[in-house]
Amino acid sequence: MNTIPTNANMKDEMLHIPLADGMVRGLLLTATGVVAKAAAIHCTSPLSTAALGRTLMGTAMLGAMLKQEEASVTVTIDGGGPIGKIVCVADAESVRGCVDVPNLYMPLRADGKLSVGMAVGRDGRMSVVKDLGMKRPYVGQTQLVSGEIAEDFASYYLQSEQSPTLQSLGVLVNGDTVLSAGGVLLQPLPGCPDEIIEQLEFRSPLMYDISRELCYDSMEDLMNRWFDGLKPVILERKPIEYRCACSRERMEKALIALGREELSRMIEDEIDGATLTCHFCKRNHHFSQGDLIKLLNKAEEK
Ligand code: ZN
Repeated sequence: MNTIPTNANMKDEMLHIPLADGMVRGLLLTATGVVAKAAAIHCTSPLSTAALGRTLMGTAMLGAMLKQEEASVTVTIDGGGPIGKIVCVADAESVRGCVDVPNLYMPLRADGKLSVGMAVGRDGRMSVVKDLGMKRPYVGQTQLVSGEIAEDFASYYLQSEQSPTLQSLGVLVNGDTVLSAGGVLLQPLPGCPDEIIEQLEFRSPLMYDISRELCYDSMEDLMNRWFDGLKPVILERKPIEYRCACSRERMEKALIALGREELSRMIEDEIDGATLTCHFCKRNHHFSQGDLIKLLNKAEEK
């Protein structure tokens, strides 16, 4: 492991790379900084870093395909395994997430890889909630396939969005250090010729180890190598970062939503007020007793 260079200096970016004259939608992501920041915030073990990191990147790719401004997507993976639930939220430029058990350790798989599938489990569901700024969010749910995350995202796209998808997501860690993280998504669009789809399937094993490949090659080099003959072009490149959207206002809304009874109980019990910690960035938001009384006046009976 020690001989593998890190690509931590590579900028985190999402590349939109249509292939075959636009017959295939392609996304290429490098997100080493995003995953390293998640690992630092949540103090994750290598196994939890990999599971959370893969989900962060899969969610970021869903976010990159949202067309509406200020739209966001929330992915929850709950496979019944020892890692518990993983929740990630993304928009077009940022992503954030959390995991129930950040410090999970399990033996490596026989092939030396981290046991993400065992940790996540597959006895459960992946849910996708897209907030597109409409009255009601779009909700899609699928059964988990393997808990390995990339396969579960691919299954979601096929079953819930009727889009056959090749997805690869990889995080390479050495102890506490995230050496590399990246992902690729390919979706043949309606009318895509069969021979192009066959080409993608034929080449998919090349992309299996994307995090390791990114340690040695730039995204452009990988793109040109993997998709040689399929006319890859970089249509758009966007920076992506781990960023939380929590604010005092949002926390106030959450407190008000608790209702009068719960807030009254808090005011009685907590003479020093209440401190709420954000799940995604661990930032503390303190509300004094006086603050809580003000919020009580805005809250409704439940
Ligand atoms: Zn936050």
